Amino acid sequence: KPKKIKQIISSANGLHVNKEEQLMEVTIHHNSMILMTGDITKQETDAIVNAANGTLMGGGGVDGAIHSAAGKELVEACKQIRQNELNGDRLRTGEAVITKGYEMPAKYVIHTVGPVWSGDKEKKQTLLANCYENALKLAVDNDLASISFPSISTGVYHFPVDTAAQIAMQTIVDFLQGRSFGKVVMVLYSEKDYDTYRKALLAIVA
Ligand code: ADP
Repeated sequence: KPKKIKQIISSANGLHVNKEEQLMEVTIHHNSMILMTGDITKQETDAIVNAANGTLMGGGGVDGAIHSAAGKELVEACKQIRQNELNGDRLRTGEAVITKGYEMPAKYVIHTVGPVWSGDKEKKQTLLANCYENALKLAVDNDLASISFPSISTGVYHFPVDTAAQIAMQTIVDFLQGRSFGKVVMVLYSEKDYDTYRKALLAIVA
């Protein structure tokens, strides 16, 4: 059995870090911000976020995993959104839409399109922040109180994980400051990614 290390770090601005191996919780203005390793399709938060592509028709990586776990109704719901909400167009990078979660434990899926790491890098960083912010806003608009994010854009879209982690953590922390939302979970697929996100979060709150 792995030895559990529990450590509480408190800082002057009321943030509490509780580290237990690959699980870490930070309290930000009564909201809970959790980092963990795991499979996002299994999370029981109100919503999970999909790192989709603009077609919303599914793909590889986390997108493929979410579509297989949700079942065929998910792609049908995405087709309806393309037709009815997007006038047949693709979902633009940085924007977000919501569907049900169908066969997954999460009630909803919030689909967002991450930027590809190429060309104007500064613009791409802003677009990545937009993904997190628009997903969180959509969760608030739908009266949700908990949401899980994957590491958007750091797979086949090739964003450097340390840069993506800084943007994700800063955007989520800023969003939770002074607002009562509930729980935000960052579900990392590898221990290496977990360590990178952990360092980025601690650089902001510790
Ligand atoms: P993108 O196209 O936005 O780069 P990818 O799906 O290629 O998206 O990768 C995003 C991240 O999601 C990667 O870190 C990948 O390892 C991770 N990932 C893949 N499957 C899952 C899963 N089931 N749960 C959580 N994260 C996952």
